Amino acid sequence: MGKDGFTCVECNEKATELHRDYNNGILKITICESCQKPVDKYIEYDPVIILIDAILCKTQAFRHILFNTSLNIHWKLCVFCLLCEAYLRWSLLHGSEQSSDPADIIRYTKEWEFYGMFALATLELSAYCGGVLCFLWLVLGRLQGATIELSLLLRALLLSCYGKVLLIPAVIWEHDYSPLCLGLIKIFVLTSNSQAIRVILNSSRRLSLLAVCFGVLAETCVAQACNKLPWSIQDI
Ligand SMILES: [Zn+2]
Repeated sequence: MGKDGFTCVECNEKATELHRDYNNGILKITICESCQKPVDKYIEYDPVIILIDAILCKTQAFRHILFNTSLNIHWKLCVFCLLCEAYLRWSLLHGSEQSSDPADIIRYTKEWEFYGMFALATLELSAYCGGVLCFLWLVLGRLQGATIELSLLLRALLLSCYGKVLLIPAVIWEHDYSPLCLGLIKIFVLTSNSQAIRVILNSSRRLSLLAVCFGVLAETCVAQACNKLPWSIQDI
């Protein structure tokens, strides 16, 4: 694994190993000294079960993914989610233009609009992550003197944004309930973000929710500022 240690998914205590290899093909799951339960029961679970538990926002599943695996796809996932969001915004931009003019097809080929939406989505995500990290750094680092690992938090935030992938089916199966679906996806992503922060910092639910709210506030401010700029993409 290349890690200093692992974490018990049940009680958050540190552990040196997840299982012990007794040769002869015998493996034994390590029992946590603190809570007397398996340190990480998920190591023998199917990835689908782990994903279902993560979707249900179970603390244990989050601890397994964030502490006991070397899952390093957060940047790739981030780019993919941004592409999903850019596509959604781009399709909504054209969906509002109800026109049967064949010349409109040519307008659809304007790729730069898509890249503009991608840049806007990137800016908003950066503002959101920056807002969350700044809030936690100020509250925990400055006021309480605790050391927080910002890179670990950023990885957790980006990984827990996986729900944005659902934007694609929401766009493809376009129907009257699309705004409701998009709202539910947003709530799901924010809930996952809040749970990820809570697991990384082992903090209260209130603090993680406050951090998420602060991030949303920063994101909204940036989105509003971008809309008001004279060179706004929508205006062009
Ligand atoms: Zn334990």
